Amino acid sequence: MRNVIIIGSGCAGNTAAIYTARANLKPLVIIGHEPGGQLSITTEVEDVPGFPMGIDGPGLDENMEKQAERFGAEYVYGTVVEADLSKRPFRLNIDGEWHDTRTLIIASGASARWLGLANEQKLIGHGVSSCATCDGAFYRERKVMVIGGGDTAMEEANFLTRFASHVTLVHRREQFRASKIMLDRARANPKITFLHSTVVDDVYDIGQNSVTGVRLRNVETGRVWEQEVDGFFVAIGHIPNTKAFKGQIDLDHDGYIVTRGGARTNIEGVFHAGDVQDRAYRQAITAAGMGCMAAIEAERFLEAEGH
Ligand code: NAP
Repeated sequence: MRNVIIIGSGCAGNTAAIYTARANLKPLVIIGHEPGGQLSITTEVEDVPGFPMGIDGPGLDENMEKQAERFGAEYVYGTVVEADLSKRPFRLNIDGEWHDTRTLIIASGASARWLGLANEQKLIGHGVSSCATCDGAFYRERKVMVIGGGDTAMEEANFLTRFASHVTLVHRREQFRASKIMLDRARANPKITFLHSTVVDDVYDIGQNSVTGVRLRNVETGRVWEQEVDGFFVAIGHIPNTKAFKGQIDLDHDGYIVTRGGARTNIEGVFHAGDVQDRAYRQAITAAGMGCMAAIEAERFLEAEGH
């Protein structure tokens, strides 16, 4: 029987592990299918306080894990395939093996949705990104492209004009899903060019290990052409990793956990942290903050239950 199981090893899960381990709760951290979370696919992180010269994403993950292990956290690879949260102790099926726990911190994150292009995954961290806030500053006076027609795409395109010399926004349809205010703001920005009814066939150049251009196709006319770009930002939404909890934890229409304030979910003793609930900020530091909150809530819950 565990005092606490933490699902996810990104900033949220790792911070929850540091705090619960220091509280002597011996947490078990389930590493999941994206070890280290979104940070692990970011080359350099410049906005986490305390690192004046920046730090590489995987390095930051590794430091947090080591810090948690120093206080007794245990990390195992695995995927939660099923969960029974109907009574306590909670039961989790991790790759076929059942584990019991008094409290649960869900920090399983939200995975960026990708286009599925042949070269896309190979160029992540080398010009392909899913986070303008994280990587925008690397594109000063360079040409970038943003894919998507929702609020995130508009927000990222606008944000990127602070650095980039030019931003091309590519959307697959004529109509935009983005709210009028966000769309109008992007349209009014002289640094942004819109290409609608256009899809990306692939991104280059694997040989140079960095993004140099894309092949585009107009879905109405069939015209195909190439365009040079230095950065390629995919902003077509995220998928929260909550499948195993569907029907038990309250989720919104997109599958994000609905908070009950602080780090609480609708089930007492089950807490959330990071992007699995947060669709607004999605930063390393906000996820870490939520991990800390979830850990403190779990600790207080266990204390109140006499453990
Ligand atoms: P979203 O609203 O679901 O929009 C995703 C966009 O990506 C859509 O335009 C969609 O095209 C496109 N897309 C999806 N799959 C694609 C594919 N395979 N190829 C090409 N295009 C694809 O996602 P989001 O923009 O991340 O926003 C998520 C939520 O957060 C929304 O509720 C949004 O309002 C909110 N948000 C709010 C703010 C703000 O208010 N400041 C900022 C960011 C996000 P189609 O339209 O053709 O389906």
